Amino acid sequence: MALIVQKYGGTSVGDIERIMAVAERVKRWRDRGDAVVVVVSAMSGETDRLIGLARQIQARPVPRELDVLMSTGEQVTIALLSMALSAKGCPAHSYTGAQVHILTDSAHNKARIRDIDAARVRADLEAGRVVVVAGFQGIDEHGDITTLGRGGSDTSAVAIAAALQADECQIYTDVDGVYTTDPRVEPRARKLARVTFEEMLEMASLGSKVLQIRAVEFAGKYRVPLRVLSSFKEGEGTLITFEEDAVEDAKIAGIAFSRDEAKLTVLGVPDQPGVAHQILGPIADANIEVDMIIQNVAAQEAMTDFTFTVHRNDYARALEVLEGTAQQLNARQVLGDPQIVKISLVGVGMRSHAGIASRMFAALAEVGINIRMISTSEIKISVVVDEKYLELGVRALHEAFGLDRLEVA
Ligand code: ASP
Ligand code: MG
Repeated sequence: MALIVQKYGGTSVGDIERIMAVAERVKRWRDRGDAVVVVVSAMSGETDRLIGLARQIQARPVPRELDVLMSTGEQVTIALLSMALSAKGCPAHSYTGAQVHILTDSAHNKARIRDIDAARVRADLEAGRVVVVAGFQGIDEHGDITTLGRGGSDTSAVAIAAALQADECQIYTDVDGVYTTDPRVEPRARKLARVTFEEMLEMASLGSKVLQIRAVEFAGKYRVPLRVLSSFKEGEGTLITFEEDAVEDAKIAGIAFSRDEAKLTVLGVPDQPGVAHQILGPIADANIEVDMIIQNVAAQEAMTDFTFTVHRNDYARALEVLEGTAQQLNARQVLGDPQIVKISLVGVGMRSHAGIASRMFAALAEVGINIRMISTSEIKISVVVDEKYLELGVRALHEAFGLDRLEVA
């Protein structure tokens, strides 16, 4: 007998028929003898609908009240799913976050879980019931309802799995696992049987939005085995695991990309201490996040060029701030390009294999793609290229690293 936490997202519980299908699946696991805790999202579109109502009253709704409102979405789903389970002869109890003591801090709309008292859940499981818990919500020390930020039910599920020391936390969603890259860009993308937490974090932060990043971090930290799988299709999904358990010897797990990048350059700034800070300080003060940074080696006259990337939404503001700084620094010119993308090769195996970077650059050169910027970390190599080359670049790399062919267990 295993203790399994299953999380179903909004589309998986999008209507009554789907809720019945979820109940059927949950019942199957329980009938096998497993103890099952189910965490659910609001029915798809519901959280947006609730926020829309609030915005008709206030452009920026009072955060405390918005939490009271948004948390109702998940409360509807837990009740319906418990009813569906009962109707199928499977005893179940539903609980809000507060009822099972999901204690959070008081940061309304983006609260963090501090502690969970799982005694009540355990008692129900021992009595043979399925426990259905509302995702995305908790309660703070003052007894106020909080929510965890959009997509937060993933984190609820992982936190509950950690508190119960569950054997596995299964995230059921509308995709059947984690892919080597986005199948909409490369139809030959292949589902991975396993991926490490580190790789998953890189893929997630680079736009493969299968799981909420915070949930992956949480699962890594508390060593909760996490599995992503489809609620519509049978299959093993993708197991997110620890490096020592990863059996495949794949050097590269996948290719992630993000479309929403922009690049800014300031030409002819003095090559002296403090300049990088003078350039990026005001950008940080404007709350703009900087990703890649490159400073050229000064040529002759103790002058250098400085380039960095930001999210495309921040481009206009970053340009404005940089123009101001450039004047103060007597810089020669400011250049900007909001039509760039970032493509990254991700894999824990590259740590121990030389030559991955040069293979990557060769593959891009072969199809005539000019690399504008490069950055590397232990398990990732990223390049910035012109937006028009995104698809071509991803496919070229997918092919060059044999990602469509690799057979995995
Ligand atoms: N219902 C919330 C949202 O739509 C939480 C979740 O689905 O994970 O963001
Ligand atoms: Mg959702």
